[in-house]
Amino acid sequence: MATTLTATTTYQNFINGEWVPAQSGETFENRNPADNNDVVGTFPASDERDVNAAIEAAAAAADEWRHTPAPVRGEILFKASHLLEQRKEQYAKDMTREMGKVLKETRGDVQEAIDCGFYYAGEGRRLWGHTAPSELRRKFGMYVRQPVGLCALITPWNFPMAIPSWKIFPALIAGNTAIIKPASDTPLSVKNLVETLHDAGVPKGVLNMVTGSGSKVGNNLINDDRMRLLSFTGSSDVGRHIAEVAGRSLKKCSMEMGGKNPLVVMDDAKLELALEGAVWAAFGTTGQRCTAASRIIVHEKVYDSFKEQFIARVKALKVGNGLQGAEMGPCVNKSQRETVQQYVQIGIDEGAHLATGGHILDSGDYANGWFHEPTVFTEVDQNMRIAQEEIFGPVTALIKCSDIDHALEIVNNTMFGLSCSVYTQDVNRAFKFVEEAYFGIAYINAPTIGAEVHYPFGGTRQTGNGHREASETALDIFTEWKTIYIDYSGVLQKAQIDHPTGQE
Ligand code: NAP
Ligand code: MG
Repeated sequence: MATTLTATTTYQNFINGEWVPAQSGETFENRNPADNNDVVGTFPASDERDVNAAIEAAAAAADEWRHTPAPVRGEILFKASHLLEQRKEQYAKDMTREMGKVLKETRGDVQEAIDCGFYYAGEGRRLWGHTAPSELRRKFGMYVRQPVGLCALITPWNFPMAIPSWKIFPALIAGNTAIIKPASDTPLSVKNLVETLHDAGVPKGVLNMVTGSGSKVGNNLINDDRMRLLSFTGSSDVGRHIAEVAGRSLKKCSMEMGGKNPLVVMDDAKLELALEGAVWAAFGTTGQRCTAASRIIVHEKVYDSFKEQFIARVKALKVGNGLQGAEMGPCVNKSQRETVQQYVQIGIDEGAHLATGGHILDSGDYANGWFHEPTVFTEVDQNMRIAQEEIFGPVTALIKCSDIDHALEIVNNTMFGLSCSVYTQDVNRAFKFVEEAYFGIAYINAPTIGAEVHYPFGGTRQTGNGHREASETALDIFTEWKTIYIDYSGVLQKAQIDHPTGQE
């Protein structure tokens, strides 16, 4: 792979409408995982002073922003989405360079932010409340959404612009001010999004970005009592920590975390469709998707045939630099590739059959990147660690099932509950699957990946804590309901007590 040495750009935090360095002057490097000689840029290694400045800016901007009419806020988001459309190609290239997924996928990532922006811009003229008839005469009741206040948005690296957009757009349309802390592997994509919102006219202080480590920037942000909402997407371990902090300080919190997503292939499935979907769901984004199909559960009648064809397709996948036409890019960093290697060993030790892959790629064109072979284990038992734990890399497990009930037993044998899918032509099996799979998202005849912004996104069990991002349901995260009673009777009326059965 050609080394693409370019001048290193120094990027800054965005606080109160200004680009500023960390107060300490410290920085960290962002490198291209396909070519470690390529430094994408340096970013501020911020500490509590920078977090505090961002919180002060967000607090100072809060009143003016929440009093700005929501349709006017929507117009700014609409303009931002148009700007993102114009900048899509450059932002997609930046994203591939900073985290490795292939260009067609990073274009999709930016497109998701565009879709999200247009969707929530439209919410500026909805943000619907409700009314219901009062039980008393001449009394009116309604409930409306109001902003939560200051929001801490903490995001992962695998959808570097899409996931930040899922948080920023609903937060802003609802009238909140926010501070985003990007994953340290992907600050450039968040900088691109924040800059676009600034260019579209988001006022100073409304949206701030502070880069730096989870332990410093993240922890300072979540522990500050001025923050009202902690919105997190990332690993279950970090999510648990943030939820504990939120619990102790009684902050609102939404957590979107890991997955171990099953894709089921029944004996009546269209095999070609299932094969294509399984390869895409298991190895898209190098398997580093929260919705990646890491358990492929195949009916025993078609298991051998599926296995043979699946392995052939996986072997044919072109691994390489996502900017140069590869089908699968590198792991995001060294430690993620080490995790993958550890799980390969765990799978071997547990007695699963390593059918293809299993090795790091580190010679020739691969020498400077964090590449790993796409890897398939077969003859996997549903209770093995490789069938239970999130690997977050290019590794999937084939598990045999005997019928739809057995498939569902395996599907639900997990601590996670994000996305599941079944390939079948039988409507009865499909509906049974939908009814019994305890997951947040279910697909029929489509892979486990493919969320659209106007449908709820999130999961059950340890994937989440009961919220759903995207669509109108994200507004339940980013707003508080306020109930309003208007009594125009001119007399004291008592709910429940003035009930007809309570009268003499
Ligand atoms: P991660 O290690 O949990 O990091 C996520 C974010 O949390 C990063 O910005 C990280 O900062 C920050 N962080 C780390 N420690 C923190 C702390 N003590 N306090 C506050 N913030 C802290 O996750 P990741 O490796 O970036 O992403 C992979 C995980 O995300 C996988 O488990 C995947 O399943 C999950 N994910 C879930 C969804 C979903 O919607 N369910 C979507 C995508 C990804 P640094 O980068 O500086 O460490
Ligand atoms: Mg990087």
